[in-house]
Amino acid sequence: MHITVLGTGGSTGVPTLGGADGHGDWGVCDPAEPRNRRSRSAIVIEGPGGRVLVDTGPDMRTQLLACGIPRIDAIVFTHAHADHITGLDDVRLLNRIAGRPLPAFGTKATLAEIRRRFDYAFRPWEPPGFYRPVLETHEIAAGDVIKAAGLTMRTFDQDHHVVHTLGLRIGPFAYSTDLVRLDEAGFAALAGVDTWLVGCFQRAPHLTHAHLALVLEWRARLGVRRTVLTHMGIDMDFAALGAVLPAGVEPGVDGMVLTFCLKE
Ligand SMILES: [Zn+2]
Ligand SMILES: [Zn+2]
Repeated sequence: MHITVLGTGGSTGVPTLGGADGHGDWGVCDPAEPRNRRSRSAIVIEGPGGRVLVDTGPDMRTQLLACGIPRIDAIVFTHAHADHITGLDDVRLLNRIAGRPLPAFGTKATLAEIRRRFDYAFRPWEPPGFYRPVLETHEIAAGDVIKAAGLTMRTFDQDHHVVHTLGLRIGPFAYSTDLVRLDEAGFAALAGVDTWLVGCFQRAPHLTHAHLALVLEWRARLGVRRTVLTHMGIDMDFAALGAVLPAGVEPGVDGMVLTFCLKE
């Protein structure tokens, strides 16, 4: 199994729009460090039977092109915030490549919100062409197992304060973006995880996102071997983080690939 980390940025990306010269506000991040340039958070999971795209944010098109991902076979939505869904219109190209509506997994609340904003993607397919995205929806609840692309993905609930999001566990790997609290079922789902790609927006506490000290507390409790931070904002400079993070914790980088052996 290969995980391609399409993006590691928070909802605005790094840099954010603006800046004194109009080329972006980098916060404390060094603009000369290419690993500080972060697009919106999403991943592709490549299993024995194809590829699962997790979230379709506004940078989806350029991310798939940059990472050389030729085809997607299914989509999982973690939640319906704009930075995770507003690239959805380009899914029509993924439909054309696959030649069929794409299975899309999400909770009832998530799918309802996406449908409210992208109703045209939920209408039945009228073959033969794909002039709009066409999703074949699969409503799931946190705790359910998703089977797609030859992969078995356990889902778990994450508290994002304003909404709940889905975490994903696939064998030795887990993906947790957009969360500020985990319940005991979440910790149980993460038990024994080897590599955890986890949202960590900034250093100071935040209402809706885990901050650095909280993520470090979680990974210590879970005994995670490798923790990779994602969904990072403009106060998460790559080099500065490298100097303070404990061994086994690293900032993610757009385009990085994590590879695992699955014993299934
Ligand atoms: Zn987000
Ligand atoms: Zn969110």
